[in-house]
Amino acid sequence: MATRWIFGNQLSHELPIVKEADKELDVFLMIEAQSRSTWQHYHKQKLVLIFSAMRHFAAELEDKGFQVDYREADSFEDAWKGHEKDFEPEKVFYTVHTDYRMTQAMKKWEKSLSGIDVEVLDARPLFLLTAEEIKGELKGDGPWKMDPFYRRMRKRLNVLVEGDDPVGGKWSFDQDNRKAAKSNTAFTKARSFRPDQITKDVMEKVEKQFGDNPGELKPFRWAVTRKEALQALNQFIKERLETFGTYQDAMLEGDDFMSHSLLSSSINIGLLTPMEVVRKAEQAYLDGEVPINSAEGFIRQIIGWREFIRGIYLKKMPKYRDVNEFSHQRDLPSFFWDAETDMNCMHESIRPVVEHGYNHHIQRLMVIGNYATLFGLSPQQTSDWFNEMYIDAHDWVVLPNVLGMALYADGGVLSTKPYVASGKYINKMSNYCGSCKYNVNHQTEEDACPFNSLYWHFLDRHADKLSNNHRMGLVYKQWQKRDAEVKQAILEKGERLLKE
Ligand code: FAD
Ligand code: SF4
Repeated sequence: MATRWIFGNQLSHELPIVKEADKELDVFLMIEAQSRSTWQHYHKQKLVLIFSAMRHFAAELEDKGFQVDYREADSFEDAWKGHEKDFEPEKVFYTVHTDYRMTQAMKKWEKSLSGIDVEVLDARPLFLLTAEEIKGELKGDGPWKMDPFYRRMRKRLNVLVEGDDPVGGKWSFDQDNRKAAKSNTAFTKARSFRPDQITKDVMEKVEKQFGDNPGELKPFRWAVTRKEALQALNQFIKERLETFGTYQDAMLEGDDFMSHSLLSSSINIGLLTPMEVVRKAEQAYLDGEVPINSAEGFIRQIIGWREFIRGIYLKKMPKYRDVNEFSHQRDLPSFFWDAETDMNCMHESIRPVVEHGYNHHIQRLMVIGNYATLFGLSPQQTSDWFNEMYIDAHDWVVLPNVLGMALYADGGVLSTKPYVASGKYINKMSNYCGSCKYNVNHQTEEDACPFNSLYWHFLDRHADKLSNNHRMGLVYKQWQKRDAEVKQAILEKGERLLKE
């Protein structure tokens, strides 16, 4: 008898571990482990998503006629011992992990076995390339740029290309993805899913056992089965992708989802494969249903950013998690867990995280990430927070996005400059400032937007590291040209804010 061990972020019937299984000779093992759930203080809905999706997946395997040994246990070790005793497997298959800690844990477990063969299987189609292929794509030690990688991926996968050329005449329509939305712009609502009995049971367990974890438990809106995830994908392609491109970087008070797909939680645990999502978006463009800036903009996120980010993680771990280019050490303020702050942009960005474990990319990057950089928050505490609070968080996707893209704590492994901005950018891309206690046009006054002085304070305090960066020359020139007294007043205001 052979065991096929399936983990909570590998719930795809398309994986070799399922496709190659034998109903007579194999048993699937799935473990809901308390100890894994306490590695970090996860958002309640993240736990519900993983446990509920696992239980549904186990039921699907049983419906197909497979034997499934599903265990709720204190730890993987305990559950494994019980399974080994009951089934006496001669061989174990599992799918390769991307997250470093899990990879190490599996190696340790493998060493503890005696007389049992272990075979580690490919994680495609959960990713587009194997770990070896992606490491081959990112040669040397970095830094790396996403754009050339993305072009190679378009050609390699034959997505939106005609021969060697990009469909639409350009590889990237990024310039057409930056329109602000007017307050009265109405976006089609994203499909959400009512919890069934399995999910309700899991919600009860989470409330009982993880009641002190952060985040709201209800309303729980996420897809927990492939069927639901496909419904969400089809609705997105048909009704919401059209406006995705134009408003990709926009933010609107009270509209937490706008035209974003909300598919990351499903893709990251295997309910959808990245390639099927990409092909549907491509087909919608070819059928004339969506404009090129939407199709290309969306596809770039998946075959470009998602795969690139994973490559950075695989190349740079384990040292990467400790990077701290600017030696930032401040603790996260308590409003990161309850959204209770007078800064309206921070409130509007963190509130959806507390309510749903989600916010969209530009809020993660240009509001929360920007805040963390300008206020000098510890990168490790910040990445822990992202890891714990988001429905789609997994170590491989969090660390490069947070430490690299948002905080520049890696000194530029994947970004050519820090993504920092004053309140002016947030005001341009959102309607948050209109109802904020702070004044986005003020710099040093009592009611001044905190981002304004802290933006210059950040640039000034890290001039040794950044002023020679060719993409930042202009902004440092602007700063140097300013009146000495004005500069002093801005720096003093920034200093006061940091102390507060
Ligand atoms: P959409 O805006 O609809 O984008 C489509 C898809 O593209 C996403 O579903 C996702 O699969 C992929 N994608 C887009 N950008 C990225 C990216 N930079 N890296 C990887 N995949 C990407 N993504 C996660 O999946 N998990 C995380 O924990 C996560 N943390 C992030 C933290 C920070 C600071 C930043 C700046 C980005 C983070 N991202 C993360 C990337 C991105 O913000 C989310 O994938 C996206 O917001 C998910 O929402 P969506 O499905 O509506 O995405
Ligand atoms: Fe954010 Fe400043 Fe605008 Fe307030 S004024 S919403 S703090 S950018």
